[in-house]
Amino acid sequence: MEEGVGVRLCRYGSHRVIEPAGAMPQAAWRIDNAPRALANEILIDVDALNIDSASFRQMSEACGGDPAAIAEQVSRTVRERGKQHNPATGSGGMLVGRVAEIGEHLRERANLAVGDRVATLVSLSLTPLVIDEVLQVETACERLRVRGKAILFESGLYARLPDDLELEVALAVLDVAGAPAQTRRICRPGDRVLIFGAGGKSGMLCAAQARVAVGAQGRVYGLERAATDSTRLLQREGYLDALVEADARDALSCLHALSTVAADEVDVVINCVNVPGTELSSILACRERGIVYFFNMATSFTAAALGAEGVGRDVDLLIGNGYSRGHAQIALDTVRDHAALADYFRRRFTVPQPA
Ligand code: NAP
Repeated sequence: MEEGVGVRLCRYGSHRVIEPAGAMPQAAWRIDNAPRALANEILIDVDALNIDSASFRQMSEACGGDPAAIAEQVSRTVRERGKQHNPATGSGGMLVGRVAEIGEHLRERANLAVGDRVATLVSLSLTPLVIDEVLQVETACERLRVRGKAILFESGLYARLPDDLELEVALAVLDVAGAPAQTRRICRPGDRVLIFGAGGKSGMLCAAQARVAVGAQGRVYGLERAATDSTRLLQREGYLDALVEADARDALSCLHALSTVAADEVDVVINCVNVPGTELSSILACRERGIVYFFNMATSFTAAALGAEGVGRDVDLLIGNGYSRGHAQIALDTVRDHAALADYFRRRFTVPQPA
């Protein structure tokens, strides 16, 4: 902690916590979202919120898919909590905007200037946020165009937006940056890998990284309820050796479909779906002493731990850390290095703006 004017400043932002006292910003129910940069903070003019996929799906279902109701739900959460921290899923997302003000203690250190365009790499679930207006809800890409202000703490990670990728593509990729970076780390040459939700944003990036990591002797399988444009692309381009069509929430169907299409079990399971109830399917698909990596935010620690115990499967269960060293660069390079993915992300995420 360091002293500010009348407030003890903490690099992790605990000085903004309102309740419960003593909590850290992510765990807090409510934080102070006053839109001015204290000495160790950066104020951002926010243009867009990329809502975490599990959170957007939950809100969309609760609002019957109505964009106006989703906008109101997000605005209400932010009014009540001072941050976009979905109380149902516990997850947030990330934002993009321009640096509006740099607190005096950070001006030398921050390597940023007022006006720079940045994406935050820390969750909205801990980011002080004020929404002045929701301009548009883009349901297809789980994004809200807004006018608002946010605070980045001293410890907050951010990425300056690259010039060679469209804003929407960069934002979509950075939102799930931890997944491709960690996939690269855990997959070994010759491994058989199964990606739940392979046709989604993080799933596609993981497929590309897994393909490179396992090499010609390895196998990469994707699991989705049914083939989609994205899974067809992944198969056509050679990122997936086969698609397993099954509902990720139905453990026995997944196992059956996997053994019919691909293998009885795999060495690494990467869970990138955005729904709850998929822990056991992932665990049962994994060989003894294999790795199950849960990037999915709707994963229950209890269900995973007790599920593995219940079926007597000794596997390493990894929680998908939103951060790993160099993750932003690795994620952006995944689309830069794989032109077919870059094209797909452009088609899917660059929505024409209203005049
Ligand atoms: P996404 O693009 O929406 O992809 C999810 C994929 O899972 C979709 O292709 C979806 O297919 C598929 N899926 C959903 N339910 C399924 C089911 N029952 N059976 C088979 N497939 C199913 O999501 P994303 O942006 O990649 O995010 C994936 C997960 O990562 C989310 O849970 C998100 O919250 C989480 N996340 C984690 C972190 C972290 O730090 N750990 C950071 C960001 C995001 P349909 O579209 O057909 O339903």
